[in-house]
Amino acid sequence: MVNLSDMNFDILISGAGPAGLCLARALSGHGLRMAVVEQQALAAIEQPAFDGREIALSQHSAQLMRTLGLWERIEAKDPNAFSALRDARVLNGPSPFAMVINHSLGTHNELGWLVSNHLIRRAAYEAVQESQQTHHDVTLLTGERVAGVHTDTQGAHVSLASGGTLHAQLLVAADSRFSATRRAMGIAAEMHDFGRSTLVCMMTHDAPHHHAAWEWFGYGQTLALLPMNDDPATGANRSSVVLTLPSREIDPLLVLDAEAFAHEMARRFEQRLGCMTLASTRHAYPLVAVYPRRMVAQRFACVGDAAVGMHPVTAHGFNFGLLGIEALARSVLAAHAANRSIGSDWLLESYEQTHRRATRPLYLATQLITRLYTDDTPPARALRHVALRIGEHLVPFKRLVAASLADAH
Ligand SMILES: Cc1cc2nc3c(=O)[nH]c(=O)nc-3n(C[C@H](O)[C@H](O)[C@H](O)COP(=O)(O)OP(=O)(O)OC[C@H]3O[C@@H](n4cnc5c(N)ncnc54)[C@H](O)[C@@H]3O)c2cc1C
Repeated sequence: MVNLSDMNFDILISGAGPAGLCLARALSGHGLRMAVVEQQALAAIEQPAFDGREIALSQHSAQLMRTLGLWERIEAKDPNAFSALRDARVLNGPSPFAMVINHSLGTHNELGWLVSNHLIRRAAYEAVQESQQTHHDVTLLTGERVAGVHTDTQGAHVSLASGGTLHAQLLVAADSRFSATRRAMGIAAEMHDFGRSTLVCMMTHDAPHHHAAWEWFGYGQTLALLPMNDDPATGANRSSVVLTLPSREIDPLLVLDAEAFAHEMARRFEQRLGCMTLASTRHAYPLVAVYPRRMVAQRFACVGDAAVGMHPVTAHGFNFGLLGIEALARSVLAAHAANRSIGSDWLLESYEQTHRRATRPLYLATQLITRLYTDDTPPARALRHVALRIGEHLVPFKRLVAASLADAH
């Protein structure tokens, strides 16, 4: 049992989600002592359960995951875990027309990759365990909640719900888009509640997906199809299905029996995938986008969703999370190597500028796209009909979208 009264570290991270664990991994092995505080029990971090999310990773994120030692770890356990995302099709209403973003517009054989969120979380936990065994520099405190925060010129001071106090040169919030740590630091955030929820699950279906993702802005609903590798047991075509509706309409779908649900989804997809079958548990997430006024404060920084809480439609949340971790880790390690403070205002402000520049334009564009494509008034329907047709012929525009999906920076 760790004695938690007045312990000192170099860096404290609140939250052992994918962002908090990846940051600890990125900083490990350089002589910095870290603690990661996580409110969930160890079992939930060690063996995370399937949560319905298939994460679309850009090529840049795939590279970062290799550098952090996550990619090989996931692949070693399941060579089928990563599915190629070759192309993307954007559809509007009942029209069969699609604007197609083809991988050949970019420089890779695929736009990106898909992998289950719980596999990322498990690999990140295992990578941190390996860091701890090799370098003895990461203490993971599970079943512990950050309850209070105070920072001054000397450092950050964190009180835990269990009563202990931790001190560090730098505190990093990685505790979700609704970050209690960010809030305790007095940082306000823009929040946009879309009043909608997203239902996610795996389904098998008759028609092949050719590894193309669909983003289908239907009337009264938004559907997405994320192409996964074939079902390993049956060889059936398999996808992650994402349905967005007003929140009150999601709940009944979660409790429909599997057969009725499959029927309902085939109907919503206008039978374009043929017969569909539910192949996993169903999960729902309320859609709230969050962008904090500041990502840093004295001896304090936010990463992951605590820094940018994206709407999932453009699939950039974790990609931005990794980008922020890369930027912050680079600055912290450079300062540490040069014997400078790892919590200086200058370092933190430079991190904020870099990450804001990388994320703010797409955050705002995503808000705009979501408004236009969920507006069911006749002028909005007509506008997006025209926008998709023009977009289809604007090759430089499509190249830009392909680059944004593939590189995410
Ligand atoms: C349906 C859906 C689909 C998505 N698809 C994509 C995609 O295709 N591509 C993509 O890049 N991203 C996608 N995302 C986003 C991605 O899932 C998130 O960006 C990522 O999971 C955020 O990780 P995080 O570690 O920042 O936060 P979280 O996963 O929310 O983890 C936060 C952790 O902090 C802990 N915590 C909270 N409060 C405290 C406290 N006070 N003290 C201690 N611990 C605390 C929590 O228990 C949790 O473990 C999707 C999201 C959703 C909902």
